[in-house]
Amino acid sequence: MIPTISNLQRRDLNHVWHPCSQMKDYEDFPPIVIKSGKGIYLYDENGKQYLDAVSSWWVNLFGHANERISTALANQAFQLEHVIFANFTHEPAVLLAEKLAKITPDGLTKVFFADNGSSAIEVALKMSFQYHMQKNKPNKKRFLALTDAYHGETLGALSVGGVDLYNEVYQPLLLDTIRAQGPDCYRCPYNESPDSCRTPCISSVEEKLKVHQAELAAIIIEPLIQAAAGMKMYPPTYLKKLKELCLRYDVHLIADEVAVGFGRTGTMFACEQADITPDFMCLAKGLTGGYLPLSAVLTTEDVYDAFYDDYESMKAFLHSHSYTGNPLACRVALEVLQIFEDDNYLDEIQEKGAYMNELASKVFNHQPYLGEYRQTGMVGAIELVKDKVTKESFPSEERIGYKIYQIALEKGLLLRPLGNVLYFMPPYVITKEEINKMISITNEAVQQYFESTKVPTYE
Ligand code: PMP
Repeated sequence: MIPTISNLQRRDLNHVWHPCSQMKDYEDFPPIVIKSGKGIYLYDENGKQYLDAVSSWWVNLFGHANERISTALANQAFQLEHVIFANFTHEPAVLLAEKLAKITPDGLTKVFFADNGSSAIEVALKMSFQYHMQKNKPNKKRFLALTDAYHGETLGALSVGGVDLYNEVYQPLLLDTIRAQGPDCYRCPYNESPDSCRTPCISSVEEKLKVHQAELAAIIIEPLIQAAAGMKMYPPTYLKKLKELCLRYDVHLIADEVAVGFGRTGTMFACEQADITPDFMCLAKGLTGGYLPLSAVLTTEDVYDAFYDDYESMKAFLHSHSYTGNPLACRVALEVLQIFEDDNYLDEIQEKGAYMNELASKVFNHQPYLGEYRQTGMVGAIELVKDKVTKESFPSEERIGYKIYQIALEKGLLLRPLGNVLYFMPPYVITKEEINKMISITNEAVQQYFESTKVPTYE
């Protein structure tokens, strides 16, 4: 059935090509026109309210139309909106670089700005390769990544990603990445449990390192949560061992904290939980609290020094983006970090995260469709399975997540499932009452879906 569509929806469909979408789906499910936002809510052109449980693609931290951030942005806009960042600088960028160097793990002292997560990954990959080349190790030009990794959509970032849905078609264009089996705690082949896990699965990485050490520049990972693969979570001990392996085999460690940075896992950065300093840390998304595109790659003095020489040596890192170090985005990021400090948000995340975990476990754990409810910090995920015992997944053609997404939207909740995994990654300003609401609408939506399809239930 073709729904009646509004003027803006019709004009949108005439010209706009939306991201990560089969546009034909929009024929019977046109884009929702959002007119405004406030706190954790979005409002459409008819005044309908949606609770944003996914922080608008994991970017929003302190709510939509946040008073403090909007004011900081407006003030900066009247002073300086942008300036070329080669040979020029400005106060917001300097303050932000100082602040990032201070709050990230010890030893990350140099900050290279880019303008989105994928670009940050490209920067880290290129820097790592060039570092080794300038240290007379030109054979170190390949990267090792984990199965089910996701690092962005540009060709370098896609090359290290391991989610077939996004990669497969572009395979002929991609770098030849070495792939190690990543951790899979829900379907652990070693029968370990996350609380007492001795991470035997790290052996897959070590085996690859033994064989490929001489040609490897870096290992890239998403610390603690492989987000796009379905919020797959693994313990900090894995990261700790990974760092030890990188040191032993002379390979850089790139920590992609694009999705998990800025408090999502319960600490400011996920690497803190393993007490490690990677060689590169990529940050984006939450860096500007969901306001503007900005990313940063933090690295060490050792890496920086390998590029520092007379111009004629041609060792410089000649990489730039037009909006590198944009003053509006840097000012907004500074305000975001100030809010973290002023309002003790890391404590709030602990408290709200514990509440969400307790409630969601209670609500979902006895449901017949629930394979696992898992949570790290304030990221919670519900994995739906066809069979609880065998953990068999629903086939992707059934598009279960997509159908539940539509039901939830109808009920005023914005979820964006990843295949059979529904997840919560709300802005930190969510209240306990709103957590109740988010969980109960999700439960209703899932039940409604299964009742309508009469999928067999297992007790
Ligand atoms: N790395 C990770 C871990 C991500 O989750 C994402 C985006 N979802 C990216 C990189 C790419 O970031 P962007 O979409 O800003 O390019």
